[in-house]
Amino acid sequence: MRAIVIGAGIGGIAAAIRASQLGYEVTVFESSNGPGGKLSSFEQDGYRFDRGPSLFTMPQYVDELFELCGENPKDHFHYKREEVVCRYFWDDNDRLVAYADPELFSKEAAAVFDVDADLVLKALKASEKKYIYSGRTFLEKPLHKLNTWLSKDVLAALSRLTQMDLNDTMHEVNKRQLQHPKLVQLFDRFATYNGSNPYQAPGILTVIPTFEHLIGTFLPKRGMFDITASLVGLAERQGVRFQFNKPVANVQHSGDQVTAVELENGETHKADLLINNSDVHFFYQNLIKDVKLPKRTLAQERSTSAVIFYWGVRGDFDELGLHNIFFANDYKAEFEALQSGSIADDFTVYVNVTSKYIEGEAPAGTENWFVMVNAPYDRGQDWQEEIKRIREHTISKLSKVMSKDLRSAIETERTWTPPGIQEDTGSYLGALYGTSSNSKFAAFFRHRNESKQFKNLFFVGGSVHPGGGVPLALLSAKIAADLIPRPA
Ligand SMILES: Cc1cc2nc3c(=O)[nH]c(=O)nc-3n(C[C@H](O)[C@H](O)[C@H](O)COP(=O)(O)OP(=O)(O)OC[C@H]3O[C@@H](n4cnc5c(N)ncnc54)[C@H](O)[C@@H]3O)c2cc1C
Repeated sequence: MRAIVIGAGIGGIAAAIRASQLGYEVTVFESSNGPGGKLSSFEQDGYRFDRGPSLFTMPQYVDELFELCGENPKDHFHYKREEVVCRYFWDDNDRLVAYADPELFSKEAAAVFDVDADLVLKALKASEKKYIYSGRTFLEKPLHKLNTWLSKDVLAALSRLTQMDLNDTMHEVNKRQLQHPKLVQLFDRFATYNGSNPYQAPGILTVIPTFEHLIGTFLPKRGMFDITASLVGLAERQGVRFQFNKPVANVQHSGDQVTAVELENGETHKADLLINNSDVHFFYQNLIKDVKLPKRTLAQERSTSAVIFYWGVRGDFDELGLHNIFFANDYKAEFEALQSGSIADDFTVYVNVTSKYIEGEAPAGTENWFVMVNAPYDRGQDWQEEIKRIREHTISKLSKVMSKDLRSAIETERTWTPPGIQEDTGSYLGALYGTSSNSKFAAFFRHRNESKQFKNLFFVGGSVHPGGGVPLALLSAKIAADLIPRPA
């Protein structure tokens, strides 16, 4: 039986592996000239850059794909746990090293901000509790199945609902738990993990620090793109065929079955099973006709997007490691601006430098900087003007905090904007994480992993349940595979 996957994003690759394990003959059609979508990579003037994700959590969801296929992940995919999760910088020269080890992190926070030694530890414990009692349960199961709601762990989670801070915002919970404004800001920033706003997102999202500090963050030995590359290798060893530069233009259907895909080049390919990894919004808008639209799902607010500068930088900025955050002075104003479709005068800048840790990523004496500023999803803003302003402010903010001249150190650069993200990956309005999680009902309005109308159509990737981010896109494929009928 033939399965077709639309899109070779990380969710599509994982779904292709799982469908081949179920016994399907799988072909993946991808618009671009290579795999990975947002999780791809490029080279420029001797530098290598990961294009999108830089923070890798839950590596077990990659490992388990190798195990599913009877392979040892350690033979193919290597990664190391990071000892420092993030370095935080403020304009007034306050700095904090967030160690992965919760005790060390808590001690460091106490030393820098003169707060109780176990304040951060307590917040992390509360976060872990939310993960154990609810987060995990809801992330790993389809939400529209009665079985899910009758399972023992979900019933147990429901009985603890009042402890999940659903009626407070993330910011309110963090303010209650962390007291010091800079620690509150630091914990609020976890909302950006899924493109949300801490002043609106429900308190249950204070579960997110668990991923960084208790489960851990990891660096793949050959950079983030290695997640994509090693899984493509695994898929190909299972017989999955990847066809690049082959955009799907239309999905044919009859009765309760999808029957074939038509490519932009005019080819038609029959399918017994179809897995869509393209953004679900575009799927309904462009790829399938004469179907009932899931209007409420499609009307959900998009997550934030980003403006990214890829800079090749000469010199040694030794304070910078992996994951550095230069905070805005007024975080609330930053999110209010994002919400209304703009970027504030002062904003938070994220910098990630992998060339210090991975050989061959940058020419001698230089570093490869991934510099990201949170941006609203595309609403037709004048991005060329915005880029000029953001670039200037980013350079002066970083130069000032590090007391170094960054402007003259930049040797090569490339920029990615929300419209560019949409154009290159098919992500609706350039949202990084599909829909936002700014309401406590957001999880329930996300598109499910199977079609209501067609028995052989399934959905994976960051725009559907359980949401955006690499681990969740991998989980979407796992949930979908449990729903896919076994071939006769
Ligand atoms: C700048 C940036 C930073 C991020 N940072 C992080 C991070 O640090 N950690 C993290 O976990 N996540 C991060 N994310 C989010 C993460 O990258 C995504 O959630 C995840 O990669 C989405 O995977 P996906 O399976 O939805 O596929 P996508 O990457 O969205 O890929 C979809 C694929 O489908 C293809 N496609 C679309 N339409 C068609 C068609 N008609 N025919 C054929 N192919 C089609 C596209 O070309 C694309 O290759 C970041 C994203 C970005 C952009």
